[in-house]
Amino acid sequence: MKKTVSFSKNTANVFFHVLTACNLRCRHCYINPEQHGQDTLPITTIEAWLECFADRNPGANLIFLGGEPTLHPDLPQAIRTAKKLGFGSVTVDTNGYLFHDILEKVTPDDADFFSFSLDGASRKTNDAIRGAGCFDACTSGIRNAKQKGFHTSLIYTVSRLNAHELFQMPKLLKDLGIDRFFIQVIGIRGKSAQHTDIQLSRREWLDIVPKTAEAAAELGITVTYPKVFLDPKEPFECAGRVADNYFVFPNGRVYRCPLCEDFPLHGMRLENNRLIESRKISENELFLLDISEGCVMNRLIQPENLSYSQDRKAEYKIACCMLKEEISN
Ligand code: SF4
Ligand code: SF4
Repeated sequence: MKKTVSFSKNTANVFFHVLTACNLRCRHCYINPEQHGQDTLPITTIEAWLECFADRNPGANLIFLGGEPTLHPDLPQAIRTAKKLGFGSVTVDTNGYLFHDILEKVTPDDADFFSFSLDGASRKTNDAIRGAGCFDACTSGIRNAKQKGFHTSLIYTVSRLNAHELFQMPKLLKDLGIDRFFIQVIGIRGKSAQHTDIQLSRREWLDIVPKTAEAAAELGITVTYPKVFLDPKEPFECAGRVADNYFVFPNGRVYRCPLCEDFPLHGMRLENNRLIESRKISENELFLLDISEGCVMNRLIQPENLSYSQDRKAEYKIACCMLKEEISN
């Protein structure tokens, strides 16, 4: 079954970067210390900020991120606090190294998902992007998590560096026992902003991604991938206007749109453990602009992926990066 998962007011998502430190140096890392800070949040602050979001959006989905969030020694306590505060689901996004024996310190009742990042079906391709030894560390982390009864998902960020191996992923996912597969488009932010030539063209994306998603779904895996391209007549919506997503960084910035994260455009901030709207101008003003190319931020930071007819009409629109297709069998 294939469906487009539009964002809704009823499902809020909190993407909580508890630190920006990481043991890896991936080529496409989106963390930008100048904009996101280099702090490791104390557990008291993490818990206070969790309370802010639990009050504002009861039952929101919570995703702990970094850097590498398992480098935070108090992550188990943060996970348990989040459960007590009533978050709808709690996920830990990890590069697979699983520091501080995290799998020993929480149970599948505390953490709903461990979500692993892998960017190649082979050691060679993945490690060229993420660093030597990462393929083995990540796949063994997945096996350990499965053995302890955790649900697992896997995130594959597609670029020209690894698109050729995407079609090999369904078999690997099945072998590893992965429950959910997230295919991501490489964002032009953080370090990737220096490598704009590694994004797939529209043709390449449409040739490779939907077919692989279907192949994985046939093996019983739920697959989610961004819609990216909309025909001119398809409806466009900016999640910044209609949905409740929060991308929270340790310096207190709270963005509503991930494409704004390289700029001081955050629509909100946490100050004295309270969530405050930013003064103008912020991303909120950009969300209000209606343009024929769809997503305003895409038009500003990655116009190379647009195409125009001779009379300067956009040939397609770029969808909001949070609009996804979901396929399950
Ligand atoms: S694991 Fe994540 S945070 Fe760490 S370097 Fe790679 S992309 Fe960046
Ligand atoms: S990605 Fe584009 S459409 Fe989506 S929230 Fe950001 S500005 Fe709006």
